[in-house]
Amino acid sequence: MNLISWLGEYYLPCFPYQSNTVWKIDYFSNPAVMNALGAWSQLYADLYMAPKNRFHSKARELIGSILDNNDKVLHERAQKLNFITGGRISVLPPDTRHVDYEIIPLNIADGCLFHCKFCCVKSEQQFQTRPETDIIEQIRHLKAFYGRNLENYHSLFLGNHDALAADDEIIAFAATKAYEDLDFELYSENPLLFLFGSVDSLIKTKDQLFEEINHLPFYTYINIGLESVDPQTLKLLGKPLSKSRVEEAFKKMLNINTNYENIEITANFVIGEGLSPEHYQSLKDLLGEAPAESCGKGVIYLSPLIDSPKKWELLPLVEEVKNVSRMPVYIYLIQRL
Ligand code: SF4
Repeated sequence: MNLISWLGEYYLPCFPYQSNTVWKIDYFSNPAVMNALGAWSQLYADLYMAPKNRFHSKARELIGSILDNNDKVLHERAQKLNFITGGRISVLPPDTRHVDYEIIPLNIADGCLFHCKFCCVKSEQQFQTRPETDIIEQIRHLKAFYGRNLENYHSLFLGNHDALAADDEIIAFAATKAYEDLDFELYSENPLLFLFGSVDSLIKTKDQLFEEINHLPFYTYINIGLESVDPQTLKLLGKPLSKSRVEEAFKKMLNINTNYENIEITANFVIGEGLSPEHYQSLKDLLGEAPAESCGKGVIYLSPLIDSPKKWELLPLVEEVKNVSRMPVYIYLIQRL
């Protein structure tokens, strides 16, 4: 098996989340990585000392821009971005791998509906949609924050943990306003929109909203945490859902993927050493019986539980699920902003 088969990408991101260590890579103990980090600091020192008056004006401008963005400035910018969106984005949808996690964040809601026991990224807040005025303000500040850099971004993330549960009119409003004001029209031929949903928000969302999303100037990925179709596993995870609700959401996901050209719903299921054979068997049954017409869209991500020891030993389990699934199956690596 190769990386593309496990992750859907040609590279192995080394994100620092504890649940990601499927390959047990400690990149800070790798001499090549440490040398690269050292070279980064050395580059600043060399550029700082370089005899700039001997360079072409364009080269001087470039060096000036690099020196203006030193570690301290980048750290301050990260803090500023968190301030604009009203808090750090604790997790991005796995689908953002399609753009190497380069997204512009815009928070349209806070909190989530379930507060599941197993989740390591949840917020304690009750779910609440942000008012339009807040979204307009964020977009105004984001435009100033990114400035010329806007041309390097082709994707928008509507946060936070369950944007699909936000008031119906807010999703289309936020996406359209961001598209217009953040210059997606100018710089992006095929812009992508990412958001999270949940079993409840997916089931409650009416066709009319999916119609609207389908007609946005984005191709939209919505990622849903289904976690398990085994009742005992759902209980163990502290996910307040029944097997039938999860199955209903899965069916709706397939339906939407078949019927809406510009929407792709993907789903996450957990894997972990302590989970029962029933969890894996019910998952294999579900994915092995997925109808053929949905096979082109809708990736399944398997997410390692944070307290599962020896994560690399989960790989054979992933392989077993992949082998029977009629839908693409990849490992979910958690990345934050
Ligand atoms: S898994 Fe999703 S719904 Fe559950 S607590 Fe975490 S963010 Fe909220």
